[in-house]
Amino acid sequence: MELKICHLFPDVLNLYGDRGNVTCMQHRLQWRGIDVSVQGVSIGQSLRAADYDLFFIGGGQDFEQGVLLKDLVGDKTAQIKSAVEDGKTFLAICGGYQMLGTYYKTWDGDQCDFIGALDLYTIGVKERMIGNYLFTCDDLDGQTVVGFENHSGKTYLGSGVKPMGKVLVGNGNNGEDGMEGARYKNVFCTYSHGCLLPKNPALADHILKTALEHKYGRAELEPLDDAIENSAHDYMERRLRAHGK
Ligand code: GLN
Repeated sequence: MELKICHLFPDVLNLYGDRGNVTCMQHRLQWRGIDVSVQGVSIGQSLRAADYDLFFIGGGQDFEQGVLLKDLVGDKTAQIKSAVEDGKTFLAICGGYQMLGTYYKTWDGDQCDFIGALDLYTIGVKERMIGNYLFTCDDLDGQTVVGFENHSGKTYLGSGVKPMGKVLVGNGNNGEDGMEGARYKNVFCTYSHGCLLPKNPALADHILKTALEHKYGRAELEPLDDAIENSAHDYMERRLRAHGK
């Protein structure tokens, strides 16, 4: 078995070490003897979405998102949309999450028209939503995910897009409706930056299994020793429940 990972805009969208999620997926596959390749596709490079099984898009500030707008128009948008509709697996974080939606209106009034692969939109507010947070994950039967968020955008989901789960501590999508992230077909979107997957190994494996099953029909992942990863998760969960940060 083999997974081909496409890291979109690795040099532009990489806040808080978002690329660590790619390293994590790579290692969790290799530890099980599954082949993996990672290819970056950035500004000015053409994207052949059919060449990949799993796409990763990290976060970026409003500035970086603005820089990408021109590059996204046309073929890249079409490739990404068809990959989403074909059931390819995506993990998109924060700015990357917003980019899969229809538009982002920044707090100072700039309108960024995005890919529109998912029926969701984002409105920026001046006061940012920052901090460690905790949410449940519907795909993991309500298991908790610990994360870190830092965004000005408030995201609202349209019909046909489900949240990833419910916020227990923190803001999530907008700090209003109690939802976090977005799920559509095999697309996973979240506001959680940085070492999301290393400290939430069950989510990492769920995403890998989704991509492998889409490609091969069936995939069982051998369990790994996640004692250290789970203790990092559990420590943050206890801290967030006790102190809210
Ligand atoms: N620019 C977006 C916002 O502030 C995304 C930020 C991010 O990716 N951290 O909402």
